Amino acid sequence: MHSHIIGFPRLGAKRNIKWPLEKYWRGQIDEGQLHRSLSELRQQHWQLQKNAELSMITVGDFAYYDQTLELSELLGVVPARHRDAGDRLARCFAMARGGAGGRACQMKKWFNTNYHYLVPEFDADTSFAAPAADVGMPPDAALQVREAAELGLPVKATLIGPVSYLYLGKMGVAGGFAAEKLALVEKLADAYAALAARIGKADWLQLEEPVLSLDMPDAWLAAMSDIYRRIEKDATAKLLIANSYGSAGARLEKVADLPVAGVHVDVVYGRSDLASADRLFAGRVLSAGAIDGRNIWRANLGALQQHLAPLAERDGGLWIGSSCSMQHVPHSCASETDLIAAGVPVAFAVEKLAEIGALSRKLAGSSTAADEALFSSAPTNIPVANPEWIDSQMPAGDLNPSRRSLKPGMDGVMFPTTTIGSLPQTSEIRSARASWRKGELDDAGYEKCMREEIRNCISRQEEIGLDVLVHGECERNDMVEYFAHQLDGIAASENGWVISYGSRATRPPIIHGTIKRRQPMTVEWSKYAAGLTDRPMKGMLTGPVTIICWSFPRADVPKMRTAFEIADALHEEVRDLQEAGLAVIQVDEPALREGLPLLVEDQKAYLAQAVASFNRICADIEAQIHTHMCYSEFFDIVEGIAAMDADVISLETSRSKMEELADLKQARHAGGVGPGVYDVHSPRVPDVEEMVTLLKMALKNVPAERMWVNPDCGLKTRGWTETEKSLRNMVAAARQLRTSLS
Ligand code: GLN
Ligand code: ZN
Repeated sequence: MHSHIIGFPRLGAKRNIKWPLEKYWRGQIDEGQLHRSLSELRQQHWQLQKNAELSMITVGDFAYYDQTLELSELLGVVPARHRDAGDRLARCFAMARGGAGGRACQMKKWFNTNYHYLVPEFDADTSFAAPAADVGMPPDAALQVREAAELGLPVKATLIGPVSYLYLGKMGVAGGFAAEKLALVEKLADAYAALAARIGKADWLQLEEPVLSLDMPDAWLAAMSDIYRRIEKDATAKLLIANSYGSAGARLEKVADLPVAGVHVDVVYGRSDLASADRLFAGRVLSAGAIDGRNIWRANLGALQQHLAPLAERDGGLWIGSSCSMQHVPHSCASETDLIAAGVPVAFAVEKLAEIGALSRKLAGSSTAADEALFSSAPTNIPVANPEWIDSQMPAGDLNPSRRSLKPGMDGVMFPTTTIGSLPQTSEIRSARASWRKGELDDAGYEKCMREEIRNCISRQEEIGLDVLVHGECERNDMVEYFAHQLDGIAASENGWVISYGSRATRPPIIHGTIKRRQPMTVEWSKYAAGLTDRPMKGMLTGPVTIICWSFPRADVPKMRTAFEIADALHEEVRDLQEAGLAVIQVDEPALREGLPLLVEDQKAYLAQAVASFNRICADIEAQIHTHMCYSEFFDIVEGIAAMDADVISLETSRSKMEELADLKQARHAGGVGPGVYDVHSPRVPDVEEMVTLLKMALKNVPAERMWVNPDCGLKTRGWTETEKSLRNMVAAARQLRTSLS
């Protein structure tokens, strides 16, 4: 019986990857120093696998910025604009961050996680080449295999699989068609075969193919067969094909025809794959991804042992592993003393290594005393994923409460102007918060400082001439963390950092109990702000789906049950805001699209429940309810958006030139719409004409009475100088339309 992981979080115990990378970008260390510190970090992570007595070390999972990006560079898939950026490292960073050659490659969410990968850019002429010599940097596994072999353990090299790599890329500037991409498969097969041929002394080569969790067109499955045959011919190691993030379902039958020596299935999020993989891979290795690689709960080891025991003696062998790469969980919970003392059963990556080792030894009948201790202390209330408990735990309740009558506009004002909520978080705000957290500034001092800031935000907005004002969200460091601190049932971790992209890490809160509001969370700030002006003030909340998507959810209840609990807490907050005199309240749901399940068959139920959770917040509320969404593809959720009980929705639309609005109209969305008229990601000040043009385009699909005018998203990362200019131009654009249309 083997024990292994799909991948380890590269971040390190103290966000070790972040500091050398950022120093290198600032020119404070040179390339040699960067390579050395990251190589050291890799070695530490292998040592941890060795200490946990896993039977194989996984190498090739490490990346400097992103695995997909670095694989692109390795294969020579570098957009023309970045080819002259310099050496390997320089090319990678130019693709990741933009450079002299132009814009960075696009970032997208990696399957249903919050990790962002860099989208490979292909065109019909793309060629792929594996380097002939060591490049000395991941993901070229040859060097790492040699380094790891020195630890004296069997090595498994890993690479993103060829089909997933191709599938996740985009064709040409316009996105292109899957079929054209598929035509590249032969060229890619040769390059992968060459990579596989120079892996060196690894016993196994793991090819990660999480696209198996998606509804893949048949043509892609057929291509998979060709490409794996080609790779197998040249490979020196045995091939393990690995699925993660869900069930491979019927696609496993096709996988079974491939010339691979084993298969890894995700037993946590695709439980039914275990039995089918056992049958289809009889005589070959079956790796059970039993330990959750993307959530932070300790495993119910006893239940897993029972579940897996019948397979322990199977022909071909059983391996125990993580469900997916553990890069989605933090490094170790060594500093989480508060959480652990509170009885929250957390296990981060290092602790999960111990669980994997213990489970495999238990199944093999070779437990150590430490393994036994882990078994006997394991929580038993954390279910092994089981589809049946989902239905039984959903709260009853109407998924379609009767709609309120919508108030899509603003009385007496055409094209009302507003912002999405946050205004520039100046360095004074951030340093006040830092001193408050350190205890150098007391509560009263902090509050005074925030009130001054709010006052400042309001007078600036009045001067700019905006119609519906916001308080500016200066008291919020993060739109989810702010609420996590104030709700029962959610806790922040001490050191639970995970990489979101590049060197950027976030610390998702942990939802561990029933969510309840202790007391009003935002009312004092909003009420104070409303009292400073005669114009309408907008209260500002974060919606349930977004809170869940950007946290670690419970594993013992369905996510959507938690969403309903959060919705009920937010409903109380909305009622209090309304009572405090706020006539407009916005509930942001930027992550609504992110929560969409991978398989089409699961999407409808998700959307219905997500919409129902939103509508619970608005039930019986008189105030005008706004919502906001951004930076995702709205097309798949547009029916849901139309069914939300929001009076007004603001959307990020400036970069797509208002394309989304036609879909909204098609879906019979009846509320107000605030299409974003400028991109908030750059300090560029858009001119009036440009915004008027966009609004005129929007008018093709949104009637003037329901049109609002706002930027694409919140302005917290911007400076005041450009913000004031941009907003003044935005107000001028709205006024121009008012006059020309009246
Ligand atoms: N109200 C939030 C803000 O303005 C919305 C942020 C978001 O959409 N991600 O910052
Ligand atoms: Zn936004």
